Amino acid sequence: MKLIPRLFILVFICILAAMASAVYAEVRPAPDQVFKGHELINDWDIEGAEKLAQELIEQNPESGDAHFLLARTDFFKSNYAQAMDRLKYVEGSHQNVKEFKELAKETLKATEHFVSSESDHFIFRYLEGPDEVLLPFAKEALEQSYKVLGDLLEYHPREKIVVEIYPGREYLSRVSPLTLQDIETSGTVALCKYNRIMIISPRFLVRGYNWLDTLSHEFVHYLLTRKSKNRFPLWLHEGAAKFLETRWREETDYLSPIMETVLAGAFENDYFIPLENMMPSLAKLKSAEDVQLAYAEVSTMMEYIAELKGDSFLSYLLAQLAQGQNFESTLETALGTSIAEFQTNWQKRIRSLNLEFIPGHKTLTSKFKKGGEDPEESSYREIEEKRTRDLVFLADILKSRNFVKAAVLEYEKAINETQTLNPILYNKLAGTYLKSGEHDKAKVLLRKSLKHYPHFHTTLLNMGETYFQTQDYPEAQNFYEKAQRINPFNPFVHNRLIQIYNKQELKEKKEFQEQLYRHIE
Ligand SMILES: [Zn+2]
Repeated sequence: MKLIPRLFILVFICILAAMASAVYAEVRPAPDQVFKGHELINDWDIEGAEKLAQELIEQNPESGDAHFLLARTDFFKSNYAQAMDRLKYVEGSHQNVKEFKELAKETLKATEHFVSSESDHFIFRYLEGPDEVLLPFAKEALEQSYKVLGDLLEYHPREKIVVEIYPGREYLSRVSPLTLQDIETSGTVALCKYNRIMIISPRFLVRGYNWLDTLSHEFVHYLLTRKSKNRFPLWLHEGAAKFLETRWREETDYLSPIMETVLAGAFENDYFIPLENMMPSLAKLKSAEDVQLAYAEVSTMMEYIAELKGDSFLSYLLAQLAQGQNFESTLETALGTSIAEFQTNWQKRIRSLNLEFIPGHKTLTSKFKKGGEDPEESSYREIEEKRTRDLVFLADILKSRNFVKAAVLEYEKAINETQTLNPILYNKLAGTYLKSGEHDKAKVLLRKSLKHYPHFHTTLLNMGETYFQTQDYPEAQNFYEKAQRINPFNPFVHNRLIQIYNKQELKEKKEFQEQLYRHIE
C-alpha cells in the first residue's frame, strides 16, 4: 500500500505563500529555491533536498522557509527529534505547517522508545523485546530483495533504508494518513511512505501473516518511487509491487489462490474496480474483497505488460519517468495501443486463462488481536455462514467435553453440508483427527486447505504436527519452519522445532532456534 502525495506541490506553494508574508519576511531565500527544495523532497530525492536546505540556511540563518525545508528533510530521513527541534524556528500558522508539526510530533512520540539494528542496506527500528525475533527473518528477506529486485529494476539505493516495526495497528494509524477504520476494513498491515517502510508486527495478529512478502512488497514500492522520482502511477505501483513481492525467495508465482478466485468472480459478474477508483490508496477501498480484486487486476496487468515487453521494461519505464517523460504516452508508445485498448486485451487474455471461481473460497481479513479474547475459543465467530457457524459451535463444545467422535461428526457435517472452505473449520476437524490418531485423514484435509490458503498459520502448524506425530521429521521441519515464518510468536512452534532439530541432530539449527525462542519467552 502507499499513497502518492500528488497534491504536495500545490500545497507547498500555498504554504510558502502564507509563510512568505508571516515569517522572517526580511531575510528569505529566493522562493524558487525553496520551492525547488520541496519538489526534491516530493521526488524523494531527500539527499538533494537536504544539501539545498543546508545551503539556504547558511545564506539565510534566520529564514523560517529554509528551516521548514530542512525540518522536512529530517523527517524524511526519519530523524523526528531533529525535525521537531528545527520546527521551533518555523512560526507559520498555516494549516499545512500545523499538520506537518502534528505528524512529526506524533511520529516522534510513537517511536521514541524504539531501538535499532542494521543490516547492510537497512536500518530496523522496533521496540526491544519479543519483536527482536523478527530481525533475522526480516534482514534475510530484505537483503535478498535488495539484491534480486535491485538487479531487476537496475537500482540499488546507496542510503540505508529505514524499516519501522510497529507494536500494533494504532501506531500505523498515528504515523500515517490511514484511520484505524481504513486499516481494519482493508486489512492494511504495511505502508511505504515518507521515504521509509512501515509494518505492523505480526505479533498483533491472531495468526500472524505473510509479513516477509509484505516487507518485500513495500521495498518494491520504495524502489519504484525513488527510481521514478515519485512519478509512477498508483495502480501500476500496486501492480508491480504485487507482481514482484515473491521474487526474493525465487518464486515467480505471485497470484494467491484467493486472488485467482476473486478475479474469476469479477469476470463472471462483470464487477471490476476501475483504475481511477484505486486512488488515493487501495487501503481506502470499501472491503477487503475489493482490495484483493484491485490487487488481482493490477498485478495481472503488470504481468501482461512484462509478457509483452519483457521484465526489463519496468526499469526502462522508471528511468523515462525520472527524466520527465509522461507515463501514459511512454506506456502507450511501448505497447503500441492506448491504455483503454490495453485493458481490453488484458481482459481477453485473462478470460483465456479460464481461472476457476470457487464458491466458498472467501477473502480472510487480517484478524487483529483484541484484549481479553481467547482467539481459539472465539474463532468459530470468524465463520461467516450461520449454519456452519452453529455446527462448529456445537462441535467445539463436544470436543471440549472430550466427546471426540461426536465432535468429528459435527465438523464433518459442517464441511459436507456447506460450501465454505474456511480454514478455521478445516483445522478444527484436522486437529480433532489428530487427537484421535487419524493422521491420514488429517493430511488429506489439510492439503486441500493449503491449496486455497497456503499461508494460514494453523494449517501449516497442524501439517507439521501430523508429520511430527508420525515421526517424519524432515517433513515436520518443513511445515513448522513455514509456520514460524508466518507467525514467529507461537511458543509451541519453537518448542517443536527445537525437538525436531534435536531428533535429527541438527545442532546449529537447534541452538539458533533456542536463541530465537528466548526473545518471546
Ligand atoms: Zn502496496
